[in-house]
Amino acid sequence: MAVPRLSRAALALLTMLAATVLAAVVQAPAAHADGCYTWGRTLGQGTSGEDVRQLQIRVAGWPGYRNYVLVDGIYGPGTAAAVQRFQAAYGLAADGVAGPQTFTKIYELQDDDCTPIHFDYTELDDDCVGGWSGGAISATATKANALRVMWKLEALRRALGDQPLVVTTAFRNTSCNASVGGASNSQHLYGTAADLVSSSATLCRIAQEARYHGFSGLYGPGYPDHDDHVHVDSRIENDADGITNSWSWSAPNCGVAASGALSVRTETV
Ligand code: ZN
Repeated sequence: MAVPRLSRAALALLTMLAATVLAAVVQAPAAHADGCYTWGRTLGQGTSGEDVRQLQIRVAGWPGYRNYVLVDGIYGPGTAAAVQRFQAAYGLAADGVAGPQTFTKIYELQDDDCTPIHFDYTELDDDCVGGWSGGAISATATKANALRVMWKLEALRRALGDQPLVVTTAFRNTSCNASVGGASNSQHLYGTAADLVSSSATLCRIAQEARYHGFSGLYGPGYPDHDDHVHVDSRIENDADGITNSWSWSAPNCGVAASGALSVRTETV
């Protein structure tokens, strides 16, 4: 069937207009080119890709109590809930959809090397000689783990009321770990751990709040050798250690305790 010429032109115009409107709706306008990473579209449940994975790393500190965000590039209910908590924590409309406002806040919170503004690679790298080599896994993988820890720490810091958190030691290479008497399979060898103190928040306050920010390993006051710092780590997410880790929390003097089997997170899109 032949389509009249005028109608075809009108249809083309309509199609073009519709595409423009749609683009305006689904494309998050880049607030500014970001030195680390710039998101180019609004993300919500059902989307997937590297942009989702990058988002998951940034909101991994907002999973809720005794939980963690699966960093798999698939935007499921767990990611949406974390985005919602992130938005609420920073006074944004909390709809669980990552659009321009959410990305603008993330751009404000990240440095050009992708670390959150209150933490740096040099604060978390090897405690003895610096750098990321000589641990249990490659330097690249270790550094990537440390970045993920830093975003959780940024969330913890925010939840504590923007109180400064100091990382006293994080990654330790094998000889450094041995020299301080660290366990032979310590999470510190993978870049997945950090030891914390604060000049303003008590250790118990840190340990109690850390339960809400994605740390599956947590030791503090009352646990042997942890009366002067709080240790946090991401052991359940660490697939390189050859161990199916459980939740392991112990800070008896602070009422912090939890153990138990791995709760496998699955995301349905
Ligand atoms: Zn530690």
